[in-house]
Amino acid sequence: MPPTEAQWNRALDYLRAAQGLLITAGAGMGVDSGLPDFRGKEGLWKAYPALRQARLDFKRIAQPEAFDRWPALAWGFYGHRLSMYRRAVPHAGFGILLRWAERLPHGAFVFTSNVDGQFQRAGFDPDRILECHGSLHWMQCHAHCRSRIWPADGFEPDVDPHTCRLRSPLPLCPDCGALARPNVLMFNDLDWEMARMVAQRDRLNAWLESVGGDRLAVIELGAGQAIPSVRHFSLRTGHPHPAHQRPRQRHFSALGRGPGRHGAADAAMAGRPHLIHTGGFTRPAPDMAKRSSTLETTLLALEMLRRIPRAPRSITAGELHAQLVASGFERDLRTIQRQLDMLSTHLGIERDDGSAPYRYRWLPHARPLAIPHLSPQESLLLKLAEEHLRPLLPAHLMKSMEGFFVQARHNLEPDGNARLEREWPSKIRTVATSQPLLPPKIVPGVLETVSEALYHNHWLRLDYKNAAGRRTTVEVMPLGLAQQGPRLYLVCRYRGFDNERSLALHRILSAGQASTIPFDRPRDFDLAQYDADGRFRFGEGALVRLRFRIDRRTGHHLRETPLSKDQTVTECDGDRLEIAATVVDSAMLDQWLKGFGDAVDGVQKEAVA
Ligand SMILES: [Zn+2]
Repeated sequence: MPPTEAQWNRALDYLRAAQGLLITAGAGMGVDSGLPDFRGKEGLWKAYPALRQARLDFKRIAQPEAFDRWPALAWGFYGHRLSMYRRAVPHAGFGILLRWAERLPHGAFVFTSNVDGQFQRAGFDPDRILECHGSLHWMQCHAHCRSRIWPADGFEPDVDPHTCRLRSPLPLCPDCGALARPNVLMFNDLDWEMARMVAQRDRLNAWLESVGGDRLAVIELGAGQAIPSVRHFSLRTGHPHPAHQRPRQRHFSALGRGPGRHGAADAAMAGRPHLIHTGGFTRPAPDMAKRSSTLETTLLALEMLRRIPRAPRSITAGELHAQLVASGFERDLRTIQRQLDMLSTHLGIERDDGSAPYRYRWLPHARPLAIPHLSPQESLLLKLAEEHLRPLLPAHLMKSMEGFFVQARHNLEPDGNARLEREWPSKIRTVATSQPLLPPKIVPGVLETVSEALYHNHWLRLDYKNAAGRRTTVEVMPLGLAQQGPRLYLVCRYRGFDNERSLALHRILSAGQASTIPFDRPRDFDLAQYDADGRFRFGEGALVRLRFRIDRRTGHHLRETPLSKDQTVTECDGDRLEIAATVVDSAMLDQWLKGFGDAVDGVQKEAVA
């Protein structure tokens, strides 16, 4: 819909009041300079009939794999475009933008998804341009031997117009001699060297800082609503807060062909009438339109986005890498770093350059992603899991779930709409069966080290102080972790022994990994059986037939919660019950019986074969 007169006047007011102009541009910006936009197969094949013959659509020719499979064809396509961009004469719209920029104290900065270098050619300061998909005027090593990015200046492609093949020699990496490729972001492209773009982005951030958000006008040119990168960027820059909070923040889009309209703005700025139409405002940017289309790349990106916390919390590339590896994404750190830098360019993710290593986080006001978020029920389940399972899950797993826990807590915050779910935790409670005790203090880091070693089957070296206060250093094979009331116990074997012991975690003074070589977990150990044998109740697994008499009122609960499946209850005279049950003998059993005082008598134990 073309803008109305009133909208145009408002836009002019914004421009007049602005201190700096941010120009965001997509593929439509190049169309009036005669550059093809490759929209759809037909657009591409009209420009490159040889690709039609080869049945290669844009996505297949514009990906790194094409340089492996058909290097001459891929370089024919990119080389031809490079020559075309070198020859193109930027249309009048560029000049008009330059003049608008000259009138503003902070001038202009360009954010473009175009790889054609037209803003530089039109005379914009190269230090005031961010090319978020790179530039065809630059190259990188296809074997990515190192991160060097070099200008394509020396490369004069000679392309056969009929076959779309490069006739001149293929450009090579000056460092290793492997094939070179354009430094542009392609489809399925995890190897794009982004250092140049990152430096540009840093300059843009510094510029935005110097202008101040409330004095910025944003003009959006030739970027379709369908293109994520440019649109997201200008929305993010233009609307960091709801409009009413930042009344002087100015953002407007040029979303229509209107000869004379930009001219009017130009006249208002410069006092001289000009005509301009930039055209093609809703066309997709070819190098971005369907990027990251493989499932794998998409899943990785989604996983990363989910795990980046909201400000003020933040995460480093290394931490994120560890979480992703723990979740089965086998990618190297460098890939994660690249993806992070790319995501932070395109979405509401901020990189904190003030810390080393860099930390990343969602901006507090960033819109939630359009992927399904946790439902209130899922949030509730996660919140309960976090509260009750934390000591029983390996530390790295808890850490890898951190993003979900944060999201779950956030979803259940008072200003959310999950009121009934939020109330649920206050409606349920696990209560103690005996006198409640506060949990003992565990030395920080001990639980993490122990659970990691248990998870990975690594020997542990422990500095341990037993209940009597004697301190020893031992090497143990961790076999199990058990929670008993408020205490945690490590079930383990000492080096050189084949019987198990339980060590209280709060008596471990320090814990370290004793070896990186995993041990074979003994087949004859079973934690469930160990528990069933009464070992956590200080027993040795001996079954006994227990008989005792108990006061009727005191013993009534044993009818409801019996000691064993074979328990029998017999009425006796004198208001007493006789109980018989097969149980594991243990110190805890004796203690339990003692706890009834005079209400219990006639205790007998018979060994069960
Ligand atoms: Zn190389």
